[in-house]
Amino acid sequence: MSNTLEGRVVLVTGASSGIGRAIAIALSKAGARVAAGARRADRVRSLAEDAPGEVLALELDVTDPQSVRDAVEATVERFGTLDVLVNNAGVMLSGQILGADTTEWTRMVETNLLGSMYAVHSALPHLLRSKGAVVQISSTSGRVSSAASGVYAATKFGVTAFSEALRQEVTEQGVRVVVVEPGFVATELTTHITDPAIQAMAKTMAESMRTLQAEDIAGAVLYALSQPEHVAVNEILIRPTDQT
Ligand code: NDP
Repeated sequence: MSNTLEGRVVLVTGASSGIGRAIAIALSKAGARVAAGARRADRVRSLAEDAPGEVLALELDVTDPQSVRDAVEATVERFGTLDVLVNNAGVMLSGQILGADTTEWTRMVETNLLGSMYAVHSALPHLLRSKGAVVQISSTSGRVSSAASGVYAATKFGVTAFSEALRQEVTEQGVRVVVVEPGFVATELTTHITDPAIQAMAKTMAESMRTLQAEDIAGAVLYALSQPEHVAVNEILIRPTDQT
């Protein structure tokens, strides 16, 4: 893959809101042909209307391996190739370990960790052909775990572990692996937290700082994907200046 995004084919998961939406729009503005997927297909279709370039709107549930395979195949069928997979879909159902609803753990593992693995598995043959790139949206929680984020952090540590193995397996074949680790970004992410006390903490935290915006993360992704072929930006940690 060259260092221009003009005409490159990118598949973005979790593109119906927040960071995924911002990445899809930024890459479209940079000239990429974008396949954008999420479960809320209506919102992905509205993204397709807002993006300047060609966008393929896909209904995608990353927890379902067949849905992931179908999304990759639909992308390649429409655009003829796949240059970049942006593994962004994720949920953060923060809470203490004691007394937790373990179905929330299952959802996080299936979405953040297994879902991103399924996407790599399906996309990799195409990325090897195009000498493409995988962008993994991890988190600062993929580096530092903290109380009430044990399972979420475990999924993001897992993403990093998987990404490093992937990097070692494919880098000599020209596929680049980028792990992006955002701090607090103002999106819908925290609205899905079911524990009212943790939900309130997240709100207080958001109000205490100038949070990142989804576009800040899109800028980091654009930077990584715009480097010359011999430069692999493997990891970007990006926090709000106000976040300790
Ligand atoms: P949002 O809640 O705004 O976006 C999450 C996206 O993931 C949505 O588009 C949602 O779409 C999608 N998604 C969730 N479950 C599935 C699924 N099963 N299949 C397909 N898509 C799914 O939050 P963010 O934009 O903040 O989150 C994006 C990523 O960034 C996540 O991986 C998150 O962990 C990470 N991140 C976010 C930070 C933050 O502070 N906001 C900090 C660090 C990392 P739909 O519901 O329509 O399927």
